[in-house]
Amino acid sequence: MTADIPNEAEPKTGLKNPPAGVSESQREGVFVNGFICQHCGLHFNLFSWKANRHRADNTYCPECGRRGAYIHYRRMLSDKTYRDETSKDEIFRHVPWPGSQLISDSVIMASPKKNDR
Ligand SMILES: [Zn+2]
Repeated sequence: MTADIPNEAEPKTGLKNPPAGVSESQREGVFVNGFICQHCGLHFNLFSWKANRHRADNTYCPECGRRGAYIHYRRMLSDKTYRDETSKDEIFRHVPWPGSQLISDSVIMASPKKNDR
């Protein structure tokens, strides 16, 4: 239920130094990494286009901020090296989670790359 949550303000616009990530030409497929943090117990999923980009030693827990002590699972959702608009396994099918509310700390780039959404 979202009835108790106040509406979020508009997200910010513009970003002087946009994040550099994996370009679609470097894509190896679609992967979901499941982590269980052994420090605080948080379970979280992390999606990627690279099979080995996210490992226990380079991933920070979004709850406690620590790294290293994880149970780490991975599943390949797609082996396609290109975005398949018709596939249910693309990351954009999973994020945002259905019914999610846009949060005001979002920073929306003025000119996002074409294939980032
Ligand atoms: Zn944690």
